[in-house]
Amino acid sequence: MSYNLNKKLVDLVPYDPITGKYSIRLDANESCFELPEKLRDKICESIRKVSFNRYPDPLSTRPIRAFSELYGVPEELISAGNGSDELISIIEGCFFEAGDTIVNVSHDFSMYQFYAQLYEVNVATYQKEPDLTIDPDKLIEFCKENGAKGLIFSNPCNPTSLGLKREDVRKIISSLDGCLVILDEAYMDFWDQSILSEVNDHDNLIILKTCSKAIGMAAVRFGFAIANKTITTALRAAKSPYNNDSVAQTIVTEILAEKEYLEKCRDTIVASTKQLYADIKALNDKLGCFEKVYEPCTNFVLIRTDEFQKIYEYLLENSIAIRKFSGFLRITAGTPEENAAVIKMLGRYFGK
Ligand SMILES: *Cc1c(COP(=O)(O)O)cnc(C)c1O
Repeated sequence: MSYNLNKKLVDLVPYDPITGKYSIRLDANESCFELPEKLRDKICESIRKVSFNRYPDPLSTRPIRAFSELYGVPEELISAGNGSDELISIIEGCFFEAGDTIVNVSHDFSMYQFYAQLYEVNVATYQKEPDLTIDPDKLIEFCKENGAKGLIFSNPCNPTSLGLKREDVRKIISSLDGCLVILDEAYMDFWDQSILSEVNDHDNLIILKTCSKAIGMAAVRFGFAIANKTITTALRAAKSPYNNDSVAQTIVTEILAEKEYLEKCRDTIVASTKQLYADIKALNDKLGCFEKVYEPCTNFVLIRTDEFQKIYEYLLENSIAIRKFSGFLRITAGTPEENAAVIKMLGRYFGK
């Protein structure tokens, strides 16, 4: 007897998050806010009431209602998933057929390509400009040339931290007849160019939102897909029936109702990111240590540097985890103390 894994599994490179214990974690763009005790107690009280012997609500009605109230989109246009990750997987697996082409952009979130590969969907990658921006006309042209059935990108973008203005996003969507645009607004809470309110005006648009970043609930695994009625009906039908467990649904319903708390967290994170950017830029102006520091519209700062590997390792040795990519470092905005620690260590690395 023998068994050989197929080629796509043999070739699969698994996602490799930083594990290990580090005193400062600025590697995964999580919120720096731990849940306050009062909210924690409230959530625990609600979890006590969960019917643990029963399957969860297959439609996540309560979290979807809470999301609808917070973001002002009708409930019937919202689907829930076990993290945006699951939604990306379902969408790429079900809205495309083997052999179809999806366009992604580089650099962008790696999971888009990861799932497409598993579903034997072709991926054509559009290269951004050298300054990491997207030229909307070139992207439209690229999609047409490749006969794309789908286009997926994050806005603002992880890892570049840069954003495309609303007019440009609208132009891309309306120029691609027959092509499904999957717009990942995971970081849009930190910027002001969302097109969530106009999702129903488009035949070919799905917007993704997550509870893992501005909402501060990465531990819980909850994401939302927002699209017109036709797409939403298909998506709800295609997902596995009990994808969001009752405990997660309970927690997310509670947290999304905390409008003021969430706004305060978001404003603080935006201010923290501005400060982190200013401090890294000041360091760079003084020492000329990096090739470029990008002005972010996210909760993290991207740095272009050839020394990415050495700096990354130096920070790890000092118990600070950040993210590295070939030629780049990405640092999540943390608490004022965490930001100060990373700035101090960067200064020390450059001998100042
Ligand atoms: C972090 C992130 C997400 C969130 O994924 P979850 O599975 O909801 O945690 C989605 N898209 C992008 C671009 C991200 O950076």
